Amino acid sequence: MSRFFSKRFASLEAYTPGEQPQDQQYVKLNTNESPYPPSPHTRAAVSDGELAALNLYPDPTGTRLRKTLAAHYGVKPENVLLANGSDEVLSFAFMAFCDAETPVAFPDISYGFYPVYAALYGLEAQEIPLRDDFSVNVDAFCAARGMCVLANPNAPTGMALPLSEIERILASDANRVVLVDEAYVDFGTQTALPLLERYENLLIVRTYSKSRSMAGARLGFALGSETLIRDLETIRFSTNPYNLNRLTLLLGEAAIADDAYYAENCEKIAQTREATAARLQALGFTLTPSMANFLFAKHPAISGEALYRGLKARGVLVRHFEKPRIADYVRITIGTPEQMNALFTAVEDILKGDAPCAAQP
Ligand code: PMP
Repeated sequence: MSRFFSKRFASLEAYTPGEQPQDQQYVKLNTNESPYPPSPHTRAAVSDGELAALNLYPDPTGTRLRKTLAAHYGVKPENVLLANGSDEVLSFAFMAFCDAETPVAFPDISYGFYPVYAALYGLEAQEIPLRDDFSVNVDAFCAARGMCVLANPNAPTGMALPLSEIERILASDANRVVLVDEAYVDFGTQTALPLLERYENLLIVRTYSKSRSMAGARLGFALGSETLIRDLETIRFSTNPYNLNRLTLLLGEAAIADDAYYAENCEKIAQTREATAARLQALGFTLTPSMANFLFAKHPAISGEALYRGLKARGVLVRHFEKPRIADYVRITIGTPEQMNALFTAVEDILKGDAPCAAQP
Protein backbone atom coordinates (compact mmCIF):
# COMPACT_ATOMS: atom_id res chain seq x y z
CA MET A 1 0.00 0.00 0.00
CA SER A 2 1.59 3.30 -0.99
CA ARG A 3 1.67 6.40 1.16
CA PHE A 4 -0.73 7.95 -1.33
CA PHE A 5 -3.46 5.34 -0.83
CA SER A 6 -6.49 6.58 1.09
CA LYS A 7 -6.53 5.43 4.71
CA ARG A 8 -10.16 4.48 4.18
CA PHE A 9 -8.91 1.48 2.23
CA ALA A 10 -5.95 0.56 4.41
CA SER A 11 -7.40 -2.84 5.31
CA LEU A 12 -9.29 -3.48 2.06
CA GLU A 13 -8.77 -6.96 0.69
CA ALA A 14 -9.50 -6.85 -3.02
CA TYR A 15 -11.47 -9.55 -4.81
CA THR A 16 -9.34 -12.25 -6.42
CA PRO A 17 -10.84 -13.35 -9.74
CA GLY A 18 -10.31 -16.90 -10.96
CA GLU A 19 -7.21 -17.52 -13.03
CA GLN A 20 -7.44 -16.37 -16.65
CA PRO A 21 -4.24 -17.84 -18.13
CA GLN A 22 -3.22 -16.02 -21.28
CA ASP A 23 -0.29 -18.23 -22.24
CA GLN A 24 -1.14 -21.91 -21.74
CA GLN A 25 -4.13 -23.82 -23.08
CA TYR A 26 -6.06 -25.37 -20.21
CA VAL A 27 -9.32 -27.23 -20.07
CA LYS A 28 -10.84 -24.21 -18.42
CA LEU A 29 -13.39 -25.19 -15.80
CA ASN A 30 -12.63 -22.51 -13.22
CA THR A 31 -14.74 -19.39 -13.78
CA ASN A 32 -18.18 -20.70 -14.77
CA GLU A 33 -18.07 -19.41 -18.31
CA SER A 34 -20.17 -21.10 -20.96
CA PRO A 35 -18.19 -23.61 -23.04
CA TYR A 36 -20.28 -22.57 -26.06
CA PRO A 37 -19.61 -19.40 -28.09
CA PRO A 38 -22.24 -16.70 -28.66
CA SER A 39 -24.57 -17.59 -31.54
CA PRO A 40 -23.61 -16.65 -35.14
CA HIS A 41 -26.56 -14.24 -35.19
CA THR A 42 -25.28 -12.51 -32.05
CA ARG A 43 -21.77 -12.23 -33.46
CA ALA A 44 -23.10 -10.75 -36.71
CA ALA A 45 -24.44 -7.78 -34.70
CA VAL A 46 -20.93 -6.31 -34.63
CA SER A 47 -20.54 -5.26 -38.26
CA ASP A 48 -17.73 -3.20 -39.68
CA GLY A 49 -20.17 -0.30 -39.85
CA GLU A 50 -20.76 -0.57 -36.12
CA LEU A 51 -17.01 -0.68 -35.48
CA ALA A 52 -16.64 2.44 -37.62
CA ALA A 53 -19.18 4.20 -35.39
CA LEU A 54 -16.96 3.79 -32.32
CA ASN A 55 -15.94 7.43 -32.68
CA LEU A 56 -19.36 8.22 -31.19
CA TYR A 57 -20.38 7.70 -27.57
CA PRO A 58 -22.95 4.99 -26.85
CA ASP A 59 -26.53 5.80 -25.79
CA PRO A 60 -26.13 6.47 -22.04
CA THR A 61 -29.72 5.34 -21.43
CA GLY A 62 -29.28 2.06 -23.34
CA THR A 63 -32.92 2.47 -24.31
CA ARG A 64 -33.06 -0.10 -27.12
CA LEU A 65 -31.55 -2.89 -25.05
CA ARG A 66 -33.66 -1.96 -22.03
CA LYS A 67 -36.80 -2.14 -24.18
CA THR A 68 -35.71 -5.50 -25.58
CA LEU A 69 -35.04 -6.93 -22.12
CA ALA A 70 -38.27 -5.46 -20.74
CA ALA A 71 -40.32 -7.11 -23.50
CA HIS A 72 -38.48 -10.41 -22.98
CA TYR A 73 -39.08 -10.49 -19.23
CA GLY A 74 -42.58 -8.96 -19.26
CA VAL A 75 -41.67 -5.74 -17.43
CA LYS A 76 -41.32 -2.07 -18.39
CA PRO A 77 -38.04 -0.45 -19.52
CA GLU A 78 -38.21 1.55 -16.26
CA ASN A 79 -37.74 -1.77 -14.44
CA VAL A 80 -34.40 -2.46 -16.14
CA LEU A 81 -30.91 -1.21 -15.29
CA LEU A 82 -27.91 -2.03 -17.50
CA ALA A 83 -24.39 -2.47 -16.20
CA ASN A 84 -20.88 -3.52 -17.11
CA GLY A 85 -21.29 -7.07 -15.86
CA SER A 86 -23.46 -7.98 -12.88
CA ASP A 87 -20.50 -7.15 -10.62
CA GLU A 88 -21.22 -3.53 -11.48
CA VAL A 89 -24.92 -3.93 -10.62
CA LEU A 90 -23.81 -5.29 -7.23
CA SER A 91 -21.45 -2.37 -6.76
CA PHE A 92 -24.24 0.13 -7.55
CA ALA A 93 -26.66 -1.65 -5.22
CA PHE A 94 -24.27 -1.76 -2.26
CA MET A 95 -23.57 1.96 -2.82
CA ALA A 96 -27.23 2.90 -3.29
CA PHE A 97 -28.97 0.94 -0.57
CA CYS A 98 -26.48 0.63 2.32
CA ASP A 99 -24.68 3.08 4.56
CA ALA A 100 -23.48 3.52 8.13
CA GLU A 101 -27.02 2.92 9.43
CA THR A 102 -28.05 0.30 6.89
CA PRO A 103 -25.84 -2.80 6.95
CA VAL A 104 -25.83 -5.72 4.53
CA ALA A 105 -26.42 -9.42 5.21
CA PHE A 106 -25.30 -12.36 3.08
CA PRO A 107 -24.41 -16.02 3.69
CA ASP A 108 -20.94 -16.86 5.06
CA ILE A 109 -20.44 -19.08 2.03
CA SER A 110 -21.45 -17.27 -1.14
CA TYR A 111 -20.07 -15.10 -3.90
CA GLY A 112 -16.71 -13.68 -2.79
CA PHE A 113 -17.43 -10.20 -4.08
CA TYR A 114 -20.13 -9.47 -1.49
CA PRO A 115 -17.71 -8.96 1.44
CA VAL A 116 -15.38 -6.98 -0.82
CA TYR A 117 -18.08 -4.46 -1.77
CA ALA A 118 -19.16 -4.26 1.88
CA ALA A 119 -15.58 -3.40 2.87
CA LEU A 120 -15.08 -1.02 -0.06
CA TYR A 121 -18.13 1.01 0.96
CA GLY A 122 -17.35 0.80 4.68
CA LEU A 123 -20.46 -1.19 5.51
CA GLU A 124 -21.23 -3.39 8.44
CA ALA A 125 -21.58 -6.87 6.98
CA GLN A 126 -23.47 -9.63 8.69
CA GLU A 127 -22.29 -12.98 7.37
CA ILE A 128 -25.09 -15.41 8.17
CA PRO A 129 -23.79 -18.99 8.42
CA LEU A 130 -25.25 -21.54 6.07
CA ARG A 131 -26.41 -24.67 7.89
CA ASP A 132 -24.11 -27.71 7.93
CA ASP A 133 -25.75 -28.98 4.75
CA PHE A 134 -25.09 -25.55 3.14
CA SER A 135 -28.78 -24.63 3.11
CA VAL A 136 -29.76 -21.00 3.78
CA ASN A 137 -31.05 -20.12 7.23
CA VAL A 138 -34.03 -18.10 6.02
CA ASP A 139 -35.22 -17.17 9.53
CA ALA A 140 -31.85 -15.54 10.20
CA PHE A 141 -32.21 -13.47 7.03
CA CYS A 142 -35.73 -12.43 8.02
CA ALA A 143 -34.33 -11.26 11.35
CA ALA A 144 -31.29 -9.49 9.86
CA ARG A 145 -31.15 -5.74 9.48
CA GLY A 146 -30.42 -3.89 6.25
CA MET A 147 -30.07 -5.17 2.71
CA CYS A 148 -30.18 -8.94 2.20
CA VAL A 149 -28.08 -10.39 -0.58
CA LEU A 150 -28.69 -13.94 -1.74
CA ALA A 151 -27.34 -15.69 -4.78
CA ASN A 152 -30.00 -18.07 -6.11
CA PRO A 153 -28.79 -20.62 -6.86
CA ASN A 154 -25.97 -19.96 -4.45
CA ALA A 155 -22.32 -20.02 -5.43
CA PRO A 156 -20.16 -22.04 -5.00
CA THR A 157 -22.66 -24.66 -3.78
CA GLY A 158 -25.14 -24.33 -6.66
CA MET A 159 -27.99 -24.90 -4.19
CA ALA A 160 -31.33 -23.24 -4.92
CA LEU A 161 -33.77 -21.58 -2.58
CA PRO A 162 -37.52 -21.99 -3.27
CA LEU A 163 -39.42 -18.87 -4.22
CA SER A 164 -41.61 -19.14 -1.12
CA GLU A 165 -38.50 -18.72 1.05
CA ILE A 166 -37.37 -15.65 -0.86
CA GLU A 167 -40.85 -14.24 -0.50
CA ARG A 168 -40.67 -14.80 3.24
CA ILE A 169 -37.55 -12.60 3.41
CA LEU A 170 -39.13 -9.95 1.16
CA ALA A 171 -42.25 -9.83 3.30
CA SER A 172 -40.35 -9.78 6.61
CA ASP A 173 -39.47 -6.10 6.13
CA ALA A 174 -40.81 -4.08 3.22
CA ASN A 175 -38.37 -1.28 4.07
CA ARG A 176 -35.19 -3.08 3.16
CA VAL A 177 -33.90 -4.24 -0.17
CA VAL A 178 -33.63 -7.94 -0.94
CA LEU A 179 -31.12 -8.50 -3.73
CA VAL A 180 -31.45 -11.86 -5.46
CA ASP A 181 -28.39 -12.55 -7.57
CA GLU A 182 -29.64 -14.81 -10.35
CA ALA A 183 -26.32 -15.21 -12.17
CA TYR A 184 -26.97 -18.96 -12.57
CA VAL A 185 -30.77 -19.06 -12.63
CA ASP A 186 -31.06 -20.16 -16.28
CA PHE A 187 -29.61 -23.60 -15.54
CA GLY A 188 -32.74 -24.76 -13.75
CA THR A 189 -33.75 -22.55 -10.80
CA GLN A 190 -37.06 -20.71 -10.50
CA THR A 191 -36.63 -16.97 -11.00
CA ALA A 192 -37.99 -14.44 -8.50
CA LEU A 193 -39.46 -12.48 -11.42
CA PRO A 194 -43.09 -13.36 -10.56
CA LEU A 195 -42.60 -11.57 -7.20
CA LEU A 196 -41.56 -8.31 -8.82
CA GLU A 197 -45.08 -6.96 -9.17
CA ARG A 198 -45.82 -7.36 -5.48
CA TYR A 199 -42.51 -6.40 -3.85
CA GLU A 200 -41.07 -2.94 -4.37
CA ASN A 201 -38.03 -4.01 -2.33
CA LEU A 202 -36.99 -6.84 -4.69
CA LEU A 203 -33.94 -6.41 -6.90
CA ILE A 204 -33.07 -9.23 -9.28
CA VAL A 205 -29.55 -9.25 -10.68
CA ARG A 206 -28.77 -11.03 -13.96
CA THR A 207 -25.76 -11.51 -16.19
CA TYR A 208 -24.96 -12.43 -19.80
CA SER A 209 -21.72 -14.02 -18.58
CA LYS A 210 -22.99 -17.55 -17.95
CA SER A 211 -26.13 -18.66 -19.79
CA ARG A 212 -25.65 -16.20 -22.66
CA SER A 213 -21.99 -17.01 -23.38
CA MET A 214 -20.76 -13.44 -23.07
CA ALA A 215 -18.45 -13.18 -20.06
CA GLY A 216 -16.01 -11.32 -22.31
CA ALA A 217 -18.54 -8.66 -23.32
CA ARG A 218 -19.28 -7.59 -19.72
CA LEU A 219 -23.03 -7.21 -19.64
CA GLY A 220 -25.24 -7.48 -16.60
CA PHE A 221 -28.58 -6.02 -15.67
CA ALA A 222 -31.03 -5.63 -12.84
CA LEU A 223 -34.79 -6.07 -12.83
CA GLY A 224 -36.62 -4.26 -10.07
CA SER A 225 -39.30 -1.79 -9.13
CA GLU A 226 -39.15 1.63 -10.74
CA THR A 227 -38.25 3.00 -7.31
CA LEU A 228 -35.11 0.86 -6.95
CA ILE A 229 -34.07 1.24 -10.60
CA ARG A 230 -34.34 5.05 -10.37
CA ASP A 231 -31.98 5.04 -7.37
CA LEU A 232 -29.54 2.79 -9.16
CA GLU A 233 -29.65 5.07 -12.21
CA THR A 234 -28.69 8.00 -9.98
CA ILE A 235 -25.62 6.06 -8.86
CA ARG A 236 -24.83 4.94 -12.40
CA PHE A 237 -25.03 8.49 -13.75
CA SER A 238 -22.83 9.62 -10.84
CA THR A 239 -20.10 7.11 -11.63
CA ASN A 240 -20.08 6.20 -15.33
CA PRO A 241 -23.08 7.01 -17.55
CA TYR A 242 -21.32 5.34 -20.49
CA ASN A 243 -20.76 2.12 -18.59
CA LEU A 244 -21.79 0.03 -21.60
CA ASN A 245 -19.95 0.35 -24.88
CA ARG A 246 -21.74 0.46 -28.25
CA LEU A 247 -20.74 -3.08 -29.23
CA THR A 248 -21.90 -4.72 -26.03
CA LEU A 249 -25.28 -2.96 -26.28
CA LEU A 250 -25.75 -4.43 -29.76
CA LEU A 251 -24.60 -7.91 -28.69
CA GLY A 252 -27.04 -7.80 -25.80
CA GLU A 253 -29.99 -7.12 -28.10
CA ALA A 254 -28.98 -9.71 -30.67
CA ALA A 255 -28.64 -12.39 -28.00
CA ILE A 256 -32.22 -11.86 -26.87
CA ALA A 257 -33.42 -12.29 -30.45
CA ASP A 258 -31.59 -15.62 -30.46
CA ASP A 259 -32.92 -16.81 -27.15
CA ALA A 260 -33.68 -20.33 -28.37
CA TYR A 261 -29.97 -20.93 -29.07
CA TYR A 262 -29.01 -19.97 -25.52
CA ALA A 263 -31.89 -21.90 -23.93
CA GLU A 264 -30.75 -25.00 -25.81
CA ASN A 265 -27.18 -24.53 -24.54
CA CYS A 266 -28.46 -24.21 -20.97
CA GLU A 267 -30.37 -27.45 -21.42
CA LYS A 268 -27.22 -29.17 -22.75
CA ILE A 269 -25.18 -27.83 -19.81
CA ALA A 270 -27.79 -29.02 -17.30
CA GLN A 271 -27.70 -32.48 -18.88
CA THR A 272 -23.89 -32.56 -18.82
CA ARG A 273 -24.04 -31.45 -15.17
CA GLU A 274 -26.24 -34.38 -14.22
CA ALA A 275 -24.08 -36.87 -16.13
CA THR A 276 -20.91 -35.40 -14.58
CA ALA A 277 -22.39 -35.53 -11.09
CA ALA A 278 -23.24 -39.21 -11.51
CA ARG A 279 -19.73 -40.00 -12.75
CA LEU A 280 -18.11 -38.11 -9.88
CA GLN A 281 -20.32 -39.87 -7.36
CA ALA A 282 -19.34 -43.22 -8.84
CA LEU A 283 -15.71 -42.26 -8.13
CA GLY A 284 -16.51 -41.57 -4.47
CA PHE A 285 -17.07 -37.80 -4.58
CA THR A 286 -19.63 -36.05 -2.40
CA LEU A 287 -21.51 -33.26 -4.16
CA THR A 288 -23.87 -30.49 -3.19
CA PRO A 289 -27.15 -30.61 -5.19
CA SER A 290 -26.15 -27.99 -7.75
CA MET A 291 -28.66 -26.31 -10.05
CA ALA A 292 -25.97 -24.13 -11.62
CA ASN A 293 -23.41 -24.59 -14.41
CA PHE A 294 -20.88 -25.94 -11.95
CA LEU A 295 -20.50 -28.70 -9.38
CA PHE A 296 -19.05 -28.44 -5.90
CA ALA A 297 -17.30 -31.67 -5.03
CA LYS A 298 -15.03 -33.26 -2.45
CA HIS A 299 -13.37 -36.66 -2.18
CA PRO A 300 -12.40 -38.46 1.05
CA ALA A 301 -8.98 -39.45 -0.32
CA ILE A 302 -7.68 -36.07 -1.40
CA SER A 303 -7.80 -32.49 -0.16
CA GLY A 304 -9.37 -29.77 -2.27
CA GLU A 305 -6.02 -28.05 -2.60
CA ALA A 306 -4.27 -31.25 -3.74
CA LEU A 307 -7.01 -32.02 -6.23
CA TYR A 308 -6.86 -28.49 -7.64
CA ARG A 309 -3.06 -28.75 -8.01
CA GLY A 310 -3.17 -32.27 -9.43
CA LEU A 311 -5.72 -31.21 -12.03
CA LYS A 312 -3.78 -28.09 -12.94
CA ALA A 313 -0.62 -30.15 -13.40
CA ARG A 314 -2.66 -32.23 -15.87
CA GLY A 315 -3.94 -29.22 -17.79
CA VAL A 316 -7.38 -28.92 -16.15
CA LEU A 317 -8.24 -25.73 -14.25
CA VAL A 318 -10.88 -25.81 -11.53
CA ARG A 319 -11.47 -23.40 -8.62
CA HIS A 320 -10.42 -24.04 -5.03
CA PHE A 321 -11.34 -21.73 -2.15
CA GLU A 322 -8.99 -21.72 0.84
CA LYS A 323 -11.86 -20.90 3.21
CA PRO A 324 -13.19 -22.50 6.39
CA ARG A 325 -15.87 -25.17 5.78
CA ILE A 326 -15.23 -25.44 2.05
CA ALA A 327 -11.47 -26.02 1.76
CA ASP A 328 -12.11 -29.73 1.06
CA TYR A 329 -14.06 -28.89 -2.07
CA VAL A 330 -13.30 -27.87 -5.60
CA ARG A 331 -15.74 -26.06 -7.86
CA ILE A 332 -15.88 -27.52 -11.34
CA THR A 333 -17.50 -25.56 -14.17
CA ILE A 334 -19.57 -27.67 -16.54
CA GLY A 335 -17.93 -27.69 -19.95
CA THR A 336 -18.64 -29.64 -23.11
CA PRO A 337 -18.92 -33.45 -22.80
CA GLU A 338 -15.40 -33.62 -24.32
CA GLN A 339 -14.02 -31.28 -21.66
CA MET A 340 -15.67 -33.41 -18.99
CA ASN A 341 -13.98 -36.50 -20.44
CA ALA A 342 -10.64 -34.70 -20.10
CA LEU A 343 -11.53 -33.88 -16.50
CA PHE A 344 -12.25 -37.54 -15.74
CA THR A 345 -9.04 -38.74 -17.38
CA ALA A 346 -7.14 -36.40 -15.02
CA VAL A 347 -9.26 -37.21 -11.94
CA GLU A 348 -8.91 -40.96 -12.44
CA ASP A 349 -5.17 -40.58 -12.87
CA ILE A 350 -4.94 -38.61 -9.62
CA LEU A 351 -7.12 -41.05 -7.68
CA LYS A 352 -4.97 -44.02 -8.80
CA GLY A 353 -2.79 -42.91 -5.94
CA ASP A 354 0.57 -42.81 -7.63
CA ALA A 355 0.07 -39.10 -8.25
CA PRO A 356 2.67 -36.76 -6.80
CA CYS A 357 -0.11 -34.50 -5.54
CA ALA A 358 -2.06 -37.02 -3.42
CA ALA A 359 -3.50 -35.91 -0.08
CA GLN A 360 -1.30 -35.57 2.96
CA PRO A 361 -2.12 -38.09 5.70
N1 PMP B 1 -22.78 -13.13 -9.10
C1 PMP B 1 -22.33 -14.37 -8.94
C2 PMP B 1 -22.98 -15.26 -7.94
C3 PMP B 1 -21.23 -14.81 -9.68
O1 PMP B 1 -20.73 -16.04 -9.49
C4 PMP B 1 -20.64 -13.95 -10.63
C5 PMP B 1 -19.50 -14.43 -11.51
N2 PMP B 1 -18.25 -14.37 -10.94
C6 PMP B 1 -21.13 -12.65 -10.74
C7 PMP B 1 -22.22 -12.28 -9.98
C8 PMP B 1 -20.51 -11.63 -11.65
O2 PMP B 1 -20.63 -11.93 -12.98
P1 PMP B 1 -20.42 -10.84 -14.11
O3 PMP B 1 -19.82 -9.61 -13.51
O4 PMP B 1 -19.54 -11.50 -15.11
O5 PMP B 1 -21.80 -10.56 -14.66
